[in-house]
Amino acid sequence: MWVYFRFRPILAEEEAEVFAERVLRLHMSGFRVERGWRNGVSYADRVVRLTSPVMRGRSVYHLAIAAHEVGHALQWRGEEAWVRSANGALTAGFGFLVLGFALAPSSLGGGSVLLGYALVASTYPFEADANREALNVVPPQHREELRKVLQALSSS
Ligand SMILES: [Zn+2]
Repeated sequence: MWVYFRFRPILAEEEAEVFAERVLRLHMSGFRVERGWRNGVSYADRVVRLTSPVMRGRSVYHLAIAAHEVGHALQWRGEEAWVRSANGALTAGFGFLVLGFALAPSSLGGGSVLLGYALVASTYPFEADANREALNVVPPQHREELRKVLQALSSS
């Protein structure tokens, strides 16, 4: 949470929604920005979803969240197979976690939880790559601040 209080007051030049739309258009990704109940990317619909506070946010903190999701959209270019497998692993991972906790306490439940964690952990390189894509397209004057926010968010 320190990262929110540290970077929320640092203002960017544009709102996160404007930034996201500009970058997606610039890189001709075919994705558009839409308001959502959580932040994420729907590859099937070619949509980057951002919550209202993030969309309207002008701080470096909000910019970082939008940039990470934009980074996922940019991964679609040339890394489609990786995007599909990472998303599959994540979905399966959460499925095994839910199943594991439902079956707990039992060895089957324990195994299911471990498998779930392993699948979710296997997507960390994919998340790190989204941050790399994000840092390539952010305003250079905020790159170092954004790197710190993205690092803090991905280790939490
Ligand atoms: Zn992500």
